Amino acid sequence: MTLQSRLRDVESRLEQACLRSGRRREDVNVIAVTKYVSAGTAEAVVREGVTHIGENRWPNAKPKWDALKGQASFHYIGSLQTNKVKDIVGKFEFIHSLDRISLAEAIHKRAQALDVQVPCFLQVNVSGEESKHGLAPEEVISFIEKVKPFDRIRLIGLMTMAPFESEAESTRPVFRALRQLRDDLNAASALDEPLTELSMGMSNDFEVAVEEGATWVRLGTVLVGKEEMEEELS
Ligand SMILES: *Cc1c(COP(=O)(O)O)cnc(C)c1O
Repeated sequence: MTLQSRLRDVESRLEQACLRSGRRREDVNVIAVTKYVSAGTAEAVVREGVTHIGENRWPNAKPKWDALKGQASFHYIGSLQTNKVKDIVGKFEFIHSLDRISLAEAIHKRAQALDVQVPCFLQVNVSGEESKHGLAPEEVISFIEKVKPFDRIRLIGLMTMAPFESEAESTRPVFRALRQLRDDLNAASALDEPLTELSMGMSNDFEVAVEEGATWVRLGTVLVGKEEMEEELS
């Protein structure tokens, strides 16, 4: 499949998921996760109009950032070590993986030095899988209290990864729980500004995530392919 046909296919699946759930297509943002592909493919994706790029490691992201800075917004979606924060803040517009106070502090300090604000998602381990990063749902409210003093961090929403399921439908409770958690936090006025964003849904399960309220889907394989598919790029 060519890049264009993959983009068209994903677009029509997104539109269908929005139709099924009474949502507006413009309320769902697509992040092209380019960690498996070259800078050339990332540039092609941006030329096709997808201007949010997701990466999970700085060494992989660097060639894409060099090629696309100013033309795309970069999203950091991987687990982030505090000693790597200096590479990320100032280059990546969004961080989806905030899950520790030590990390919040490091982001805040770096952002202060650069005089920027960093919109962040709190990563929540809804499924409770041990292999997954993120806060337990019941930890989130006290975590928010502890992050408040770090005023260079702007909490905008929640992020989760669902377990891989052969039936995408099986992921629905995870996405529904993340939306419920966001709504509960907002009902409790956990923050002055309500959390509006939900970063959830990947290649395998994005339609279910959209039906459950995703505002950002993170799409790698289904959208940009993997390296071995690149020769099919048109
Ligand atoms: C790799 C990755 C994705 C995209 O994965 P696909 O299944 O290829 O769409 C999304 N989110 C995170 C956090 C990732 O690490």
